[in-house]
Amino acid sequence: MAFIPEEVIDQVLRTSNIVEVIEGYVPLKQTGKYYRALCPFHTEKTPSFTVNPERQIFYCFGCGEGGDVFRFLMRREGFSFPDAVRHLAERAGIPIPERGRPREEGVLKLFELQRLACDHFRKTLKGPEGTAAREYLSQRGVGSEAVERFQLGYALAEWDGLVREITRLGLTPRQVEAAGLALPRQGGRGYYDRFRDRLMIPICDSTGKIVGFGGRALGEQQPKYINSPETPVYKKGVHLYGLHLASRAIRETRVALVVEGYFDAISLHSAGFPQTVASLGTALTADQVALLRRYADKVTLIFDPDPAGIQAAWRGLELLVAEELGVGVVILPHGKDPDTFARESGKDALLTRIAAAQDVVDFLLSRAEERTGLRGVDDQAAAARQVLRLIALMPEGVRRAKYIQKLAERLGVSEASVMAELRRLGSPDSAGPSAPRPSAPLPPAEKTLIQICLLFPETRPLVWGAIREEELSASPLRSIYGVLREFRGSEEGLARSLNHHPDPLVRQVAAELFVRGVEEFADPHRMVQDCLIRLKLQEVQVELKSAREQGDLVRVQALLDQKRTLTGGRISETDYIN
Ligand SMILES: [Zn+2]
Repeated sequence: MAFIPEEVIDQVLRTSNIVEVIEGYVPLKQTGKYYRALCPFHTEKTPSFTVNPERQIFYCFGCGEGGDVFRFLMRREGFSFPDAVRHLAERAGIPIPERGRPREEGVLKLFELQRLACDHFRKTLKGPEGTAAREYLSQRGVGSEAVERFQLGYALAEWDGLVREITRLGLTPRQVEAAGLALPRQGGRGYYDRFRDRLMIPICDSTGKIVGFGGRALGEQQPKYINSPETPVYKKGVHLYGLHLASRAIRETRVALVVEGYFDAISLHSAGFPQTVASLGTALTADQVALLRRYADKVTLIFDPDPAGIQAAWRGLELLVAEELGVGVVILPHGKDPDTFARESGKDALLTRIAAAQDVVDFLLSRAEERTGLRGVDDQAAAARQVLRLIALMPEGVRRAKYIQKLAERLGVSEASVMAELRRLGSPDSAGPSAPRPSAPLPPAEKTLIQICLLFPETRPLVWGAIREEELSASPLRSIYGVLREFRGSEEGLARSLNHHPDPLVRQVAAELFVRGVEEFADPHRMVQDCLIRLKLQEVQVELKSAREQGDLVRVQALLDQKRTLTGGRISETDYIN
């Protein structure tokens, strides 16, 4: 597994100027020590996108997007982290030595095993034992080109065909088991193949490395599909089938077609839709949506019209919308899955369907209309709520505003009433030209405390001694506290691990806290003390309330003393009442 050494990443970061890089995309205007621009990630009329050259960080006070130069490129270009590093290294003329990570040897072995198994399955598909499997493929209209492209194979109808082959190559049956390809024999010694007499479909990660397999029964035997179990290289719901073959086309068109099954994807690729991937489950998972986000701006889902399937896809719709991806929905004629439709009706018919994809709001409203006619007030309200729940997840102002308008039109009500309903649902803001802040406001004392910790490393010991992670009420601040406390490395490394934290909310809050210049804080030690006292006081106040409710006068007195100490003797008269 290729990886880029830390010191090279540091070097790339030091030699790249975030101001120059961002200026290649949006014109920046210097105001004082910061640069500002209209945000490239949301629509706004007054610039809230801020770049702090000293910290080499950007943050948008409008939509909360923020981070270092790598994060900017990842968000803007859809790069993965290593791709962003490589891109900037190339610009700066820094060579990247890539080598295998020694501690990943076990993982390398797993990849190697999947590869060896795949080669074996492919060989048997072509051999005399593969006749039935070849016939099955030709019945399903899978041509030899697709067989090669998707590296399809055949697992022999034997108990240990694969185990024998792999051990012949010098690996152990135990390793075949670890790769999810064999099972230990019950009671006795030895192992047997997990996949027997099945058409073998390798599942790859986005770079094309095989991580697992799907095995399709050739006849009517059950189960129809067996999949690899989870291993260190394969997790259910993390990969998208066919992405390594589709990524280039998706990047070019910025549109991904998403289908459900292996053969739907294979069939669509063969029909001339190379931007197709399969979810291998009814609903897209958060990991899969994040993966799509790297390549696509829009996702078109191709469903077969089974209502249960549509219901199951709902969670995936929510995730797509929350990730600011445009969503189109193609519904095929009843009883047709994408595979049969593509083969029977051909490319042009499918192209027409895709071109006529409904956007997600139209789709939901039409479905509601089909079910209820949308005539009664109650039906309308129910449909509106379902659509509003989705709209409330949309971070972007313009898209939200458009959907609100559309919803109002379709229901024949005013936009104002739709917006009022949206606010009632607890949406962060009504849709306007500038996007709402997606996060809830943070408690000020906690926020300032963690901000000072971030910006002034010398204050950290004081804070660690005074407050525990679990005493902070806001979860992103708790996470930042945890990272700060655990981190052993340079300040650059620390900034990087926060800028690339897996939780987007943590990244966003970290960028917001980081973007401030240190000169804005005159006396950090004093500020830390103040924040700690404020937090302690809040805590005492809560305890005081409960002590009073329980009538525990001794405890009340002790807490009042504590409060007096904290406030330096100042205590209000009302504290003694009750
Ligand atoms: Zn923004």
